[in-house]
Amino acid sequence: MSRFFTERLSKLEAYTPGEQPKDMKYIKLNTNESPFAPSESVIAAAEREAHRLMLYSDPECTPLVSAFSELYGIDKSELIMTNGSDEVLNFAFMAFSDTSRPIVFPDITYGFYPVFARLNGIPYEEIPLSEDFSVNPEDYIGIGKNIVIANPNAPTGIALSLADIERIVASNPDNVVIIDEAYVDFGAESAVALVPKYPNLLVTGTFSKSRSLAGARLGFGIAQRELIADLNTIKYSTNPYNVNRMTMAAGEAAIRDNAYYMNNCKTVMENREYTRDRLCALGFRVLPSVANFLFAESPDVDGEKLYLELRRRGILIRHFSKERIKNFNRITVGTRAEMDALLAQIENILKGN
Ligand SMILES: *Cc1c(COP(=O)(O)O)cnc(C)c1O
Repeated sequence: MSRFFTERLSKLEAYTPGEQPKDMKYIKLNTNESPFAPSESVIAAAEREAHRLMLYSDPECTPLVSAFSELYGIDKSELIMTNGSDEVLNFAFMAFSDTSRPIVFPDITYGFYPVFARLNGIPYEEIPLSEDFSVNPEDYIGIGKNIVIANPNAPTGIALSLADIERIVASNPDNVVIIDEAYVDFGAESAVALVPKYPNLLVTGTFSKSRSLAGARLGFGIAQRELIADLNTIKYSTNPYNVNRMTMAAGEAAIRDNAYYMNNCKTVMENREYTRDRLCALGFRVLPSVANFLFAESPDVDGEKLYLELRRRGILIRHFSKERIKNFNRITVGTRAEMDALLAQIENILKGN
């Protein structure tokens, strides 16, 4: 740390992204990316737009917003596009929380939430997940604080029902409830349908997981127009050109190619169930995930050891050192061939080979 770093931020512990190693070619099952390439039309759209990179991008993301609002059946004023959904989440922390408006979230969830809280000087409280690693909706009913919940949650993959989400939103009318739907396309119920009814609800989403654009950085927020206007105030006060030209073109093409991506999601869900069954047959405890990853522990091999052994064999999964989940690993669901390679190596490790 330099002597110039401000006192206010000197204690900040930055978010640790999953590793993107360059030492060898791994089967990458550690950061929940799609195993499928973007569609041809998305690649072509980004290439065409490269010729116009000398011009700033459109801060209103006009064609992308039109295509998107049509697909989701919402008004353009109810939508903000951002540089990944991490950006809309940070905007929301900045816009709606401060020392007098604290925020709560589960103790085991997306690692960025406590980072955004500390970055913005926001007091926060972590509410423990239930024994079975699910979010207990009762813990959030009428809590009277801002709330952020990933649904499905990460790294567990467990989702709340839409009815439970609605009870949480309805019982906290004076607080903003953020539902982070990064993984919703893999089998959970979306809360977007609740937006017309609740002025305190913000739903966030991303093109990184289900739409094969993690490297392009494209996320979004959906809420009633007043909340979106506040988020735009933050956006225009930090970076009006937050979505670059190539990403905007790619995102619009991806929306038009929706069937391709939803079909990929279906394949991932099938591979998830296949992998879950095989892990269970090997004695693993696997949480009931409706996301594009599985969270699993083996009674026979320590979580960190399994992670290190697989890494040595060219397969990357994600291990977290937090006490309550340190025997688990989060495994991104890839292609069937990737899952078979993973399972073969796990069998070897369990046999001591
Ligand atoms: C991956 C992820 C995000 C954000 O991803 P972006 O690439 O920034 O869109 C947000 N929330 C959760 C829970 C995630 O896992």
